[in-house]
Amino acid sequence: MKNRIIENSLKTTVKEKPFSIILLFIAIILGIFMQLVPPQILKNIIDNNISKGIYQGIWKLSYYYLIAVLISGFADFIREFMMADIGQDILLNIRYNMGKKLSYLPISYFSNNPIGQVISRFTSDVDAVGSLFTSGIIGMIADSLKAVGIIVSIYLLSPVLSLYVFLLIPILYFIAKFFKNSTLKAQIETRKAVGNINGFIQELFNGIRTVKIFGMEKHFISDFQQPLNENINAVHKTSIFDSVFPCLMQIIRALIISITVIIAAPKGLGALGISIGAIAAVIDLISRILAPIESIAMEFQTIQEAVAGVKRIQSFASEDEEKRYSDDAAIIKKYENLSISVNNVAFSYSKDDEIIKNISFAVEPGQKTVLVGRTGAGKSTILNLIAGLYKPDEGSIEIGGMDPFKMNPNIRRRIMGIVPQSFPVYDVSVRDAVTLYDETISEEQVEEAARIVGLHDDIIKLPNGYNTIIGEGETGLSNGQYQLLSLACALVLNPPILLLDEVTSGLDGVTEERVFKALKNISKGRTIITISHRVSGIIDADKVIILDSGKIVEEGTPIDLAGKNGWYAKYSQIEQLGWKI
Ligand code: ATP
Ligand code: MG
Repeated sequence: MKNRIIENSLKTTVKEKPFSIILLFIAIILGIFMQLVPPQILKNIIDNNISKGIYQGIWKLSYYYLIAVLISGFADFIREFMMADIGQDILLNIRYNMGKKLSYLPISYFSNNPIGQVISRFTSDVDAVGSLFTSGIIGMIADSLKAVGIIVSIYLLSPVLSLYVFLLIPILYFIAKFFKNSTLKAQIETRKAVGNINGFIQELFNGIRTVKIFGMEKHFISDFQQPLNENINAVHKTSIFDSVFPCLMQIIRALIISITVIIAAPKGLGALGISIGAIAAVIDLISRILAPIESIAMEFQTIQEAVAGVKRIQSFASEDEEKRYSDDAAIIKKYENLSISVNNVAFSYSKDDEIIKNISFAVEPGQKTVLVGRTGAGKSTILNLIAGLYKPDEGSIEIGGMDPFKMNPNIRRRIMGIVPQSFPVYDVSVRDAVTLYDETISEEQVEEAARIVGLHDDIIKLPNGYNTIIGEGETGLSNGQYQLLSLACALVLNPPILLLDEVTSGLDGVTEERVFKALKNISKGRTIITISHRVSGIIDADKVIILDSGKIVEEGTPIDLAGKNGWYAKYSQIEQLGWKI
């Protein structure tokens, strides 16, 4: 689907809504044609009836006039409605295709791109592109045709007047453009100010503890004044432009009409020799030309913005997707006795900053390995590489001979239980948080996993037990409970390998003991790689790997390392003094 998001979305819409599209074009053409009919009828009424004093048949003409106005209004309604309908469908398809694309992008895309930017690709950029296909291009074509039709009609009534109107068009256009641009600028300022207000509230939510602890309420309120002022200034500007523009257009319209009358009146300056009925028709036509010209000024702006949006969406569409899943179900029949080997692996999140530098180690089946190191040493990164979330820049990782990066997610889950350092806060039921919508997992398996991590008793106390929806704005769990839940999620398929990133960091002493006990029970016969800041948690490990700045500085059994006067010994000493590293 590379780089063809917009094209494909348009094709889908054409396939889904052919009748709407046909109807739209019929409505546009009918609308343009019907605009031109009433002035002609008006001319006839005045010239053939009113001015000659013949009133026979006038009702019939008035009736036609009314019908023409009604059809023209109805055609406009259909046009607007179909445009909105088709436009929304295009937007939906573009967003759907972008969402699909996003979910297939490699995890590195998510760490290299700020979330706000990605969100605006999905919101304002898509909106801009949508308006290109609705009000933008179609609107511009429809309005231009309308304007041309009106000029031609005037020409048929009086070539001189059509020239005069033709000369007025650029003046009208630039006045309209000036106002529309200024309004748009003010609207953008308003949006920015609203964004700032939102940001402030969000910040308060995130930092409320800090605000309360340090008594910073006054400081917050005085800072809050600024985006509020910006907002009100911007809104003022918009309302000034909004209220001045229609008045100005009314005045201009009146001026143009009076000049027309002066030029065209039979006994006036110009004496163009056209009938009163024709003058009335021209006045009507001139009133009708203002709206399309105003719209064209706006549509130019829309198209410019849309082109920028199209470019940004196309650059999003050309991001490389991850094509990684090989069919390894055929390769492995048993998910047991899988050894892990990390061979000369180097990795960086961004090009110039190598986080993991040429690391090699092996973990035999059933072995328990602990990665130890200071904050930022690269422990979580190594675990994520083994879990197959990232692809190493150099070297290779193998789990039972397979590349974890290419592993099919279904198989991955059965091979590895992964507990990340920062657990996600979902908005799902407790059961779904454990199964992750895998329907092959039975209720018994979910309960069993919850029991193993010691969470079952807490869950049944929740309002709806396993069906309780947890998450932001719903029933909350404590940090420790969330951590246990993600442990249960990792364990539920009984995988032979566990990758645990500081699973006990969010827990109190008693719970920590409980989890350690649970881990000891489930660790029998499993291959485990854990991460720990604490030496005490790793005493019963088979192997300890000490990392510093992305390199292995020491490696061995706890007993081996305890003897050396190296990192491990230092860590143990510090910890015995009661410090946590
Ligand atoms: P901690 O004990 O604090 O969890 P860690 O050893 O697990 O630390 P990592 O999370 O592996 O450390 O991070 C190692 C380095 O990689 C850090 O310097 C960090 O800034 C960088 N890093 C981690 N995650 C990302 C990311 N998603 N994008 C860019 N850089 C990252
Ligand atoms: Mg970490």
